[in-house]
Amino acid sequence: MKPETIAIHAGNQIDKNTQAVIQPITLSTTYVRGHNGEYPGGFMYSRANNPNRQALENLLAALEGGEAAAAFSSGNAAAMAVFQALTPGSHIICPDDMYHGLRNQLKTMFNNILQFDFIDVGNLPLVKKNIKPNTLLIWLETPSNPLLKISDIKAICQLAKKNNLIVAVDNTFATPICQQPLNLGANLVMHSNTKYLNGHSDIVGGALVTKHLNPFWDKIKNIQIYGGAIPSPFDCYLTVRGIKTLPYRMRGHCHNALIIAQYLQNHPKVEAVFYPGLPSHPQHQIAKIQMLAYSAMLSFLVKGGEKAARTIINKLTLFTQATSLGGVESLIEHRYSVEGADSTTPKNLLRVSVGLEHIDDLLADLENAMH
Ligand SMILES: *Cc1c(COP(=O)(O)O)cnc(C)c1O
Repeated sequence: MKPETIAIHAGNQIDKNTQAVIQPITLSTTYVRGHNGEYPGGFMYSRANNPNRQALENLLAALEGGEAAAAFSSGNAAAMAVFQALTPGSHIICPDDMYHGLRNQLKTMFNNILQFDFIDVGNLPLVKKNIKPNTLLIWLETPSNPLLKISDIKAICQLAKKNNLIVAVDNTFATPICQQPLNLGANLVMHSNTKYLNGHSDIVGGALVTKHLNPFWDKIKNIQIYGGAIPSPFDCYLTVRGIKTLPYRMRGHCHNALIIAQYLQNHPKVEAVFYPGLPSHPQHQIAKIQMLAYSAMLSFLVKGGEKAARTIINKLTLFTQATSLGGVESLIEHRYSVEGADSTTPKNLLRVSVGLEHIDDLLADLENAMH
């Protein structure tokens, strides 16, 4: 089936008791056992599993083309489960512009447990050179945050396979509608459900999807269940609800983003625009092959430095100044000041999450703020 159909049906089960068309939210923490101590409903205790989480996991596995998924209370908790599942002392290759919250997680929580190098994963010979005897994992994030760099998932997975490495892809920016890393050879996909998947800026959540069931996945499931960083039934319900419109939302997001990227590219006050859908993007050819659409995150450099960038933000009325992304409303942020002291993001960079408002209104707002 096609993504539009999967998005609507794979996470929903008509309620057997009431015939409710929409699966109810099951708040119960515990489930009645049978005479022989068995669990006739298939559920035992809500940290281990519950119907709404099961629905979300089934939906994500189906959308990404994986065998199973595990939902977590945040994107960071999902990623952490991967790092915790690695044997202590192992080495990870990470992108040099990895999502700053995860870079900080590795640097502050795993500095004595794992080894990691942050390198330009767009440079294949460099990736190869950085594989050590104890390397176990290559972490990818493409398009990357906030420079929208593209790495070649297929090529890196081929290299990884030769060296027995796991490849995990943070697919938050692309969503399974715009990119399917498991079909390009990746072992794991990670999501911040907080962003496009839920899509309405009202839950924090995360997930992992695995291509195959295997002992590494078993470790991740143990971390989910015994670590306990699980999402609430209500958050799972909202995420399943949000995903039903994901394919159509992504069409609108992509449509608006390309027009805005083109507008900015032709604007005299703009030094550069980073959007993988623009032919001028350095890895546009790779994006064209590995992405189904270019999603709706973009960033641009403003001529005149940080002050000029802030002036634009403050004049905008429809683009709200706030961090995060992937909601129906357009957001803009001065990224350097969000990332903190070790940020390598240019100070005149603005990151935009292009929303679903009418493109004419968005362009008018930009025109007004940038003239
Ligand atoms: C937001 C984000 C995360 C972290 O997700 P949370 O839900 O905030 O924990 C990870 N990767 C990317 C690319 C993100 O945008």
